Amino acid sequence: MIEIKQVRKSYGSLEVLKGIDLTIDKGEVVAMIGPSGSGKSTLLQCINGLETISSGEIIVDGVSVFDKATNLNHLRRKLGIVFQSYNAFPHMTVRRNVTLALTKVLGVSRDQANAIAETQLQRVGLLAKADVYPTALSGGQQQRLGIARALAMGPSYMLFDEVTSALDPELVAEVLATLRQLSAEGMTMILVTHEMQFAREVADRVVFFHEGVIAESGPPEQIFGNPKSERLRAFVSRAG
Ligand code: ATP
Ligand code: MG
Repeated sequence: MIEIKQVRKSYGSLEVLKGIDLTIDKGEVVAMIGPSGSGKSTLLQCINGLETISSGEIIVDGVSVFDKATNLNHLRRKLGIVFQSYNAFPHMTVRRNVTLALTKVLGVSRDQANAIAETQLQRVGLLAKADVYPTALSGGQQQRLGIARALAMGPSYMLFDEVTSALDPELVAEVLATLRQLSAEGMTMILVTHEMQFAREVADRVVFFHEGVIAESGPPEQIFGNPKSERLRAFVSRAG
């Protein structure tokens, strides 16, 4: 379970998170939507301690992310994060890109790491590309490599920040199919997305950010079918 309690965060004098309360249960898929600059990416980065918070608390499986006693490296293994574009190491094969952190960070043997890589590449439909270099991959395949790399670490939670928004439209579907499959397998996921149709279909709960607060949240049928606020109504109709 991820518990976000009264989280505030400022960059200098700009307060970008203004008291966020949100709990994500095991197995839940939560979609975060909202206008540019509303704080979605900032919150994702705070969850795995990439950004600090000004006040409040974030607790992952009972461990407080910003507690001085918390081993952040250890905690981050629970939290796979994938961004808008994945920068693979160009001089390493797809397989080695997946095994690198396993052997270097977790101290897994090369053989065992290769076995894990093959399982995860299979999971995202990239096993056939295991021995090519990332420059030979399409944008969608590179994103799926980023997902496989994160999955290889055995996370309990996956955080996705607009993983399809840098892709050409014809490549979006294959990445969404991978996310849909993870959801069907019961993976707990937080997805920041501009794909409203996808959020509607895959999310258990949709959270609408506006100017650093959660302005509205609920099941997709409610958020998209019966938005309460004029703001959300306008956002949803603009976003299509
Ligand atoms: P988008 O949909 O465009 O990705 P977002 O909801 O993810 O937007 P954030 O990236 O969380 O928004 O940004 C929230 C606010 O914080 C914005 O006003 C942004 O300019 C500001 N901000 C983000 N990162 C920094 C930073 N490192 N330093 C200063 N300000 C920042
Ligand atoms: Mg963002």
